[in-house]
Amino acid sequence: MIVVLDLDQTLIYCTPCKTGLIKLPNDENYQIQCRPYLGEFLDWVSYNYEVQIWSAGTKEYVERVCLYLNDRFEFKPCRIRTREEMVPFEGRMVKLLTESTMFIVDDNHRYIAQNKQWIPILPWEGQSSDRELLRIESVLKSRWLSALTLL
Ligand SMILES: [Mg+2]
Repeated sequence: MIVVLDLDQTLIYCTPCKTGLIKLPNDENYQIQCRPYLGEFLDWVSYNYEVQIWSAGTKEYVERVCLYLNDRFEFKPCRIRTREEMVPFEGRMVKLLTESTMFIVDDNHRYIAQNKQWIPILPWEGQSSDRELLRIESVLKSRWLSALTLL
């Protein structure tokens, strides 16, 4: 089973600054904050699912953030998807998902999928008390268990 994770306000919160952790080829710098429990969540989800990252950010930005997540948490997504893979739909660019994919994202206006595939997460902007990733882990576990009982 594939789990697609959004980046901004789902796993991380990035803000532009003069000397950030992330430096892009065009000299833009970003400070990056990681959502509480991110390391534990990425460990768990990578062990149990094929994890893809899909962000509406540029290829340079998304790859640079993923390098940072790899350095910090030894997290390596199976696939990285970016703005360039989005498709036009009714005048906007969206992420088009296949049936066997679950998508964890803080907003749903950028993709087309069946509603049951979308696991909404509250947008995160740096609050240290946030526990959404723990909740998402338990949602994934309960879906997994209900799939097992169907067998
Ligand atoms: Mg987002």
